[in-house]
Amino acid sequence: MADKPTLKPWIEAIHAYVPGKSKTSDGRPLVKLSANENPLGCSPAVHKALAGEHQPNFYPDPDATALRQAIGAVHGIDPARIVCGTGSGELLHCAVQAFAGPGDEVVFPRYSFSLYPLLVWKVGAEVVPAEDSDYAADVDKLLAAVTERTRVVLLDNPNNPIGTWLPRAEVERLHAGLPRDVLLVVDQAYAEFLEEGEDDGGFDLAARYDNVLVTRTFSKAFGIAGERVGWATGAPHLVDALNRLRGAFNVTASGQKAALAALGDRDFVRRSRDANSSIRARFVEQVEALGNHGLRALPSKANFVFVVFEGALSATTALDAISEAGYAVRHLPSQDLPQALRITVGTQEQMDAIATVLRQLCEASA
Ligand SMILES: *Cc1c(COP(=O)(O)O)cnc(C)c1O
Repeated sequence: MADKPTLKPWIEAIHAYVPGKSKTSDGRPLVKLSANENPLGCSPAVHKALAGEHQPNFYPDPDATALRQAIGAVHGIDPARIVCGTGSGELLHCAVQAFAGPGDEVVFPRYSFSLYPLLVWKVGAEVVPAEDSDYAADVDKLLAAVTERTRVVLLDNPNNPIGTWLPRAEVERLHAGLPRDVLLVVDQAYAEFLEEGEDDGGFDLAARYDNVLVTRTFSKAFGIAGERVGWATGAPHLVDALNRLRGAFNVTASGQKAALAALGDRDFVRRSRDANSSIRARFVEQVEALGNHGLRALPSKANFVFVVFEGALSATTALDAISEAGYAVRHLPSQDLPQALRITVGTQEQMDAIATVLRQLCEASA
C-alpha cells in the first residue's frame, strides 16, 4: 500500500498555472500586457450594476436565465441553446470531458490556447497537435491529424497566441471534412475584435449541425475577466451535456449582473474594438519597420500581437528589456515558442513605449 494518496498518472503530467513576472528587478510593478485584458477597463454600466443592491446570502440563478435571454436576443439564438459558464474555460473543459476520455484523441492546431492540453490531460485523453502553416492554423493539416480515435477538434478563432484567423469558408471546409461523430469546438474568445462583417460562420454551423459548439467569453472585449463569465451555444444535446457537467451555480450573482450590464453597452465594445484595431495596426507597422533586424509581426485579428525574433535580437533579450521598461508581456517557451513574444495591445502610449524599446535594442545589436 502507498503511504499517501496516489495521483492518477495522467494528472501527474499537469503543472499548476505559472503566472508571469509582475515586478521589475528593482521591485517596480509591471504594466500587464500578458493576459489579453482590456486596457479600457470595462463599461461604466458594469461598475454601476456591481455597486447596486446585492444580497450575497442568496445563491445565484443556477441557469443564468436573464443573461441567456439577453445573449440570445443580441445574437438571434434560442436561449435554450445557450449555456453559461465560469468563463468559457469551464465550458471548454465540459465539452472535452463529455466526449473524450482515456484512449481518445483531441486535435488542435499546434500553437493554440495554453489551456487546451490541460483540459485534454485532465480527462486522460491524448493531445494530437496539428502542424501549422507559418504558425497559423491550417485546415488540411488539422484534417490530416484526425484519426478514428479523434473525438474532439478545438479551434480558437482568432487563435491565441498567434492572432491569426480562419475565414468562414475555411471553418466550413474543416467542418465538412470531419466525421459527424467528431465534435468541433469553435472558440471565439476574440470574435468581438473582428471588423464589422467578419464572421467565421461558427454560429451558423452550431445552429445547423449536431457536432458544432461555439464558445464566447466576457473576459476580453467586454473587459470583465475577473467576473469569470463565458457562454456556449450548440445543438440541444450538446447544451444538455454541458449542463450536466458544469457547476450547478457556476456563474456568480455578481458575474451575471456584470455580464448583463456589459452586454447592454454595445458602444463600449465598439470603442474597444476600434481602439484595438488602430493601436494594433500602428504597433504592427513599428515592428515591421524592424524587419531588417529579423523582427516579424504575424497578422493579428485579436487584441495582441505575436512578434517573432529571427535575427540577432532574441525574444529573451527583448523580454528582459521590455520588463525593465515596466511591461509584462508573454514569452511562451513552454509552448515551444522560445523565439517569440505575445504582446497584448495596451494603450497607444504603452505600445509606443514597447516599440521604442524594440527599436533601440535592434539599433544596439546591429
Ligand atoms: C482568453 C481566452 C478564453 C477565455 O477564457 P475565460 O475562461 O472565458 O476567461 C478562451 N479561449 C481563448 C483562446 C482565450 O484566449
